[in-house]
Amino acid sequence: MNENITNINPKEFMRTVDLHFHTNHSDGKNTPEEMLNAYKEKGFKKVAITDHNVLTAHRNLNIPNGIEVIKGIEFDCWDGYVFMHVLGYNIDIDNPKLNKLCAKNRLAATNDIIRFINHRSAKNVIKTIKEAGGIAILAHPACCWSRDIKKTIKKLVSYGLDGIETHYYYRRHRAYTKFYEPDYIKQIGDELGILQTGGSDSHSVEAIIKLED
Ligand SMILES: [Zn+2]
Ligand SMILES: [Zn+2]
Repeated sequence: MNENITNINPKEFMRTVDLHFHTNHSDGKNTPEEMLNAYKEKGFKKVAITDHNVLTAHRNLNIPNGIEVIKGIEFDCWDGYVFMHVLGYNIDIDNPKLNKLCAKNRLAATNDIIRFINHRSAKNVIKTIKEAGGIAILAHPACCWSRDIKKTIKKLVSYGLDGIETHYYYRRHRAYTKFYEPDYIKQIGDELGILQTGGSDSHSVEAIIKLED
């Protein structure tokens, strides 16, 4: 039932598929509908809304014809002292446990201090995403605050992590510190034989990445 994620050709990421973007339900600029219409206009066929710590964008959503919208979320969480973002896809947005992990409101969803105080464990986040019928992916692994990313990914896989976000538009990230080379991340994904997804992490209509051949 997660074939809509597992059957994507890697070449489609940021061409016709984008599994990572934000709306004004967290720290994005545009409404979900504005984002979806912009993606559709650019020729995208499949996208996932992945707001920080909230599911509200998926409720009462008007989906334009001709584009598949995957229900997603991006959780801030910790594994010991390692801070990371974990994406959930195809989740049941009415799952009570999943909703308990969510931020209470938009301010809490986007406020860094609250995000740091609100301690979610990666193990619990991954377990809950799976229980809600979804698949769990480590977002932008090259930005993960881990001293040994391979070891961290292996540990997360032991918790039930399905894959990593290999195809990520790192070039834009001024705000993030990149700790690892994207090629190394892909190498780990290949070696472990886990799912490798992709997304642009766009926070506005103007920021949508459309790669051309
Ligand atoms: Zn992130
Ligand atoms: Zn993001």
